[in-house]
Amino acid sequence: MTLAYAFIGLGHLGGNLAASLLRNGFAVTVFDRDPAAVARLVALGATAAASPAEAAARAGNAITCLPSPKVSDAVLAGPDGLLQGLPAGGTWIEMSTNGRDEILRLAALASKKGIETLECPVTGGVHLAAAGKITALVGGDAALYERHRPAVEAMCAKSFLMGPVGSAAVIKVITNMLAFIHLVAAGEALILADQGGLDLAQAYHAIVASSGNSFVHETESQLILNGSYDIGFTMDLALKDLGFALAMARESRVPLMLAPLVNEIFQVGRQEYGGDAWSTKIVKLLEDAVGT
Ligand code: NAD
Repeated sequence: MTLAYAFIGLGHLGGNLAASLLRNGFAVTVFDRDPAAVARLVALGATAAASPAEAAARAGNAITCLPSPKVSDAVLAGPDGLLQGLPAGGTWIEMSTNGRDEILRLAALASKKGIETLECPVTGGVHLAAAGKITALVGGDAALYERHRPAVEAMCAKSFLMGPVGSAAVIKVITNMLAFIHLVAAGEALILADQGGLDLAQAYHAIVASSGNSFVHETESQLILNGSYDIGFTMDLALKDLGFALAMARESRVPLMLAPLVNEIFQVGRQEYGGDAWSTKIVKLLEDAVGT
C-alpha cells in the first residue's frame, strides 16, 4: 500500500523534496506559513491544509523540513501541531537538520502519543534535491525505516541507516561541519589562485583533478566563480548547524580546533551580508579584503 504524507516546510529544500514525492505518485498534503510556497506545491498536485494538525490527520504520516529546532518543536507539539492530528501508529519523519538532544526530546514527546519517529536529514544541497538525488541519513527503528523506504527513495538516491533516533543527527552535523570547513578552504584557494594570476576556470579544473579536491569545491566553487552564489542554503542555517557541532564537541569533550574558527568566520559573514545571504558568500569576506 502506498502511504500518504503530510509535508510541512516547503522552502528551498522541503519544496524540492515534496515535489519528488508527488512526481513519484505519493499523495501529499502540504502546509507552510508562506502561501506562495503552498501554491507552488499545489500546482504540482499537492493538497493544501489549513494547519499541520489538519495535514497530519488527512495523511496519517507527516514529514517536516523546517529552519530551526524551535520551529520543529512548534510544528510538532504546538497548538494545531502534528501531534494534534497524527493518529496513534502514525509516523513523524524529521528531515530538518536538528540537534541530537532536540530530536531525542521531540521523539519522546511523539512517543507519548503513540507516534513513532524517523529522523531523515539529507545532504547534498538543493540542486541534488531537485533532481531526487540527495543522500538521506536515517536514524530510527529498522522496520519503521523499511515501511517508509519507498518515500525516502522517492526523494533520495542514497540512504544510510545510521542507528537509532539521534544517530542521523550526529552524522549530519559532522558532514555539515566538514562542508563549511571545505567551503572556507575552497574560497581561500580560489582567491590565492586569482591573486597568483591564474585563469580561474583552469584552476577550478586543476583542483578538481588534484589531491585538494572536495565535493564542496566541485559543486560550490562553480557558483562562486559564476558570481551567482546560488547554493539555496543560508548563513543562518550554516550557523545553526555549526552550533550543533560545537555543542556536540562540548558535550563529548572534543577540543575541536577548526570548527570554532569557521564558526567565527560565519558569524562575521552573517554580520556583513545578513543571515539570509547564501552561505557561499562567506568567500566574499576574502574577496572584499583583497578588493577583487
Ligand atoms: P527554508 O528557510 O528555505 O525553508 C523553511 C520553510 O519552512 C519555509 O518555507 C518557511 O515558510 C517554513 N516555515 C517556517 N516556519 C514555519 C512554521 N511555523 N510553520 C510552517 N512552515 C514554516 O529552509 P531550507 O533551506 O529548506 O532548510 C530547511 C531545513 O533543511 C533546515 O533544517 C536546513 O538546515 C535543512 N537542510 C537544508 C539544505 C539546503 O540545501 N537548503 C540541505 C540540507 C539540509
